[in-house]
Amino acid sequence: MDGLNNIFLPLKGDEGAIVICAHVNPDGDAIGSSLALKHYLERKGKQATVVVPNIFPDFLKWLPGAEDILIYTNAKHKEQIKAAIDGADHIIVCDLNQPNRLGGLEQDIMAKDAPRILIDHHLDPSDFCQTTFSEPQMCATGEVICHLLSENNEIDDISQTEAICLYTAMMCDTGAFSFNSNRPIIYEFISHLLAKGIDKDQIYRNVFYTASEARLRLQGYLLYVNMKVLHDLHTTIMTLTNEERRRFKVKNGDTEGIVNIPLQMLGMKLSVFINEDTEHPGIMKLSLRSVGDFPCDQMASRFFNGGGHKNASGGKLQCTMAEAIEKVKMAIGLYADMLK
Ligand code: 5GP
Ligand code: MN
Repeated sequence: MDGLNNIFLPLKGDEGAIVICAHVNPDGDAIGSSLALKHYLERKGKQATVVVPNIFPDFLKWLPGAEDILIYTNAKHKEQIKAAIDGADHIIVCDLNQPNRLGGLEQDIMAKDAPRILIDHHLDPSDFCQTTFSEPQMCATGEVICHLLSENNEIDDISQTEAICLYTAMMCDTGAFSFNSNRPIIYEFISHLLAKGIDKDQIYRNVFYTASEARLRLQGYLLYVNMKVLHDLHTTIMTLTNEERRRFKVKNGDTEGIVNIPLQMLGMKLSVFINEDTEHPGIMKLSLRSVGDFPCDQMASRFFNGGGHKNASGGKLQCTMAEAIEKVKMAIGLYADMLK
């Protein structure tokens, strides 16, 4: 953690305009962490703009400041995003470890002549920012920010709004503190956030109890019809095509977290969810979740052009659904020793 507090040094000068960007398909940690930084910087008198490559789930829209997030794939935001990046004195890159995770924003962010600061917790960060704070042992980028604040002796100065965003970030990346969340320091930070008067029970309901009817029916269908259980290998494979999305009137965010459900079965070690990409038909997106030592990130980088964390990773394949299923089965077969 040496030198962690240096992160805020470049921001202490007169330069006032900062762009904060997060990864494609932003999740609760990406959005929560980016908004926490925005509110922090605004409290310090800076001008901060959060920019994301594409839309984020509805269940994050209640977060304070979410209404001001600029979305690259939204044609109405294009001009504002260009102006924000053009005018930026610093760019903070949040919750990702390589530039291609910026999706459509990659070119503009990488071409901009302003210092970039990475704040992240993914393994193997590539060297594309002038300052890198990568802490893969931490549960969320939100936790990395708590450390930064703590090292600066600022964690008790934050606003309730900042606390709400940071709590949401950590809650989302740990399944409400049900995985990757055994380190005691996490709860020390949470105790500081709670002291700001945040309502963690309400935050939980805002994120996890907002399912639409379509989501619940889709969940039932996927588990009953589409989930294949490879009992010998303690693995499940689930699929969802765009045709099925239309049939179930699935909206963005409706599939969030479904990949975790098969791991509720006793003895299961690996869950693979293959999703046809809504924006690019012909691309299959994969989500992998495991329990214990099974290295999802290794499987995703070896076979699915992806990566991530040991117990949660993703990737993509350009092929048909049937071909993707075959490739997944082949990859699982090669890990049979670990899965049996
Ligand atoms: P999800 O299954 O929620 O889409 O992704 C889980 C995690 O896997 C993400 O937090 C991210 O770390 C990683 N991930 C997902 N898709 C990709 C990808 O295409 N490439 C890489 N490198 N990582 C991914
Ligand atoms: Mn994260």
